[in-house]
Parts: sequence; structure tokens; C-alpha cells
Amino acid sequence: MDECPRCQGSLEELSLGDVSTVSCPHCEYADIPVEHESVPETPESWRDALNRFYEETVPKVDPVDVESEADAKPEPEPIARED
Ligand SMILES: [Zn+2]
Repeated sequence: MDECPRCQGSLEELSLGDVSTVSCPHCEYADIPVEHESVPETPESWRDALNRFYEETVPKVDPVDVESEADAKPEPEPIARED
């Protein structure tokens, strides 16, 4: 049995089919091999944190105003004039 590189506790061996890995029940260290079974680490909170980051850093800009300015084209001259 290996020792945890973090807390020197005894590692638990886990087997997933052909793949065996170790994890530490004391500090939740996990030696996860690069496999398709990799467990995503809380993608939801990461996305929330990212959204919060953008909301706090990016100044509030009216998207309609930005679009109209970027898409600004010269007004076409009126061809037919009635005088
Ligand atoms: Zn540990």
C-alpha cells in the first residue's frame, strides 16, 4: 500500500475495470490516470465564477448602442426629390 504524497496517510486502491487508481480518504488526494472516466471538478461553480468575474470587470455597455455604432453606415442620399 502506498502512502499519500500529501498527508502520508494510507491510500485506498480503487479499481475501475482494467484501470486501478489510488485515492486518499484523509485529504481526498486522488491519483487519477488520464482516462475518459476523468471526473470533472464542479463545472457549475466554475462557470458561475466566470460569469461573476465578467459581470464585475466588464463595464455595463448597452449592446444595442455598440452594435449600431459598429454597424454604422452612411445614410443613403434620397434619390427622388420633390420640390
Ligand atoms: Zn492524503
